[in-house]
Amino acid sequence: MKSRCANLLVEYGGIRIDTILKLGGEGGSLTLIGKKNDDGGWTFFRESQESAMTDVLDEEDQDLLLLLNPRTRMIGCDLELALKSLGRHWKQLRPVEIHPDFRWSMYKLVIESRVSNLYHWKKICLKNNPLYQLAEWISSSKHTVVLSGAGMSTESGLPDFRSRDGWWRNMDPHKVANVTAIEENYELFWGFYKYRIETVEQYSPHIGHHILAKWEKNGWIHGISTQNVDGYHVVAGNHNIVELHGNIRSIRCHYCGRSSDVADFLNRLNCSSCQGPLRPNVVLFGEMLPDNAWNQAFQWFHRAELVLVIGTSLQVAPANQLPCLTSGHTVYMNMEMPEELDPSFDLMIKGKVGQLLAELDEMLDYIHSGKEE
Ligand SMILES: [Zn+2]
Repeated sequence: MKSRCANLLVEYGGIRIDTILKLGGEGGSLTLIGKKNDDGGWTFFRESQESAMTDVLDEEDQDLLLLLNPRTRMIGCDLELALKSLGRHWKQLRPVEIHPDFRWSMYKLVIESRVSNLYHWKKICLKNNPLYQLAEWISSSKHTVVLSGAGMSTESGLPDFRSRDGWWRNMDPHKVANVTAIEENYELFWGFYKYRIETVEQYSPHIGHHILAKWEKNGWIHGISTQNVDGYHVVAGNHNIVELHGNIRSIRCHYCGRSSDVADFLNRLNCSSCQGPLRPNVVLFGEMLPDNAWNQAFQWFHRAELVLVIGTSLQVAPANQLPCLTSGHTVYMNMEMPEELDPSFDLMIKGKVGQLLAELDEMLDYIHSGKEE
């Protein structure tokens, strides 16, 4: 199905301009266009006539030409102001096109503005909006489970130690995070995990983690199965958690299994019982997932009416097989869209996870307030 990627893209010379809102009707037409800034925000322009600007955009400073073009007027970076700049007239017109990223925020503004033709706005902003479709699925599902991955943590600022950018001392993690390293090169193993534990402690859960905790409390999701070892879902307040790859702040003896404190590990102490090396309770490369965690996740996904896969490229087995177990709807949300995904998903939504979850949360509150009828 459709992704959230903007499909209304128009190229004006070298500048990428997206249609944000197109209104039409008997009184004429109005168009709001936008240019995405490097920081992820937008600058809006009002286009008073629908005509291509390509003819005037052949000089070096195309940004300037866009501003100087008599047919466009820069409004600024605030969507509400941009809408107001269209004058009162816009309320009489019908929405024809709305950029997918702005459908929900536009709808919130439209409700406040008391437009006369709300039905047409609903059709585009809600019914034709994958994110709103998902909010309705969450709202009606009796058993929703989440699978989260590295993308959830990187939005907190945590480096992804598997990706090349996040490598410790430029070393392939496969060579450090394994049993052989504990037994034959403990200094290296310990250094790597000391660094990772300290990094996890420097950051904290973001808004997306907190929203998932709220959803569990409200009964909107049943539980989260995560590939992350940072424990941020627990810190945020989720209780039904399956940490498939363990938790980095839980420490045990590699030989006898006796549990120990994270401080003992950071101070490079040995097991107080057998003097064996201490290690985090995480699944190292080459180790099997703990049976109880896997079985619990298996049951959840098998029973699920809705599966949300958040912030994972689904490269790591066997966790990537979990979404296949459900006979319900499957939804994929991530900043990056992998070229091929197995299984295929009913909905694929691209964007920052925290932002998508925040928007979904507002939609769920809206649905539950009964205002959508
Ligand atoms: Zn021991």
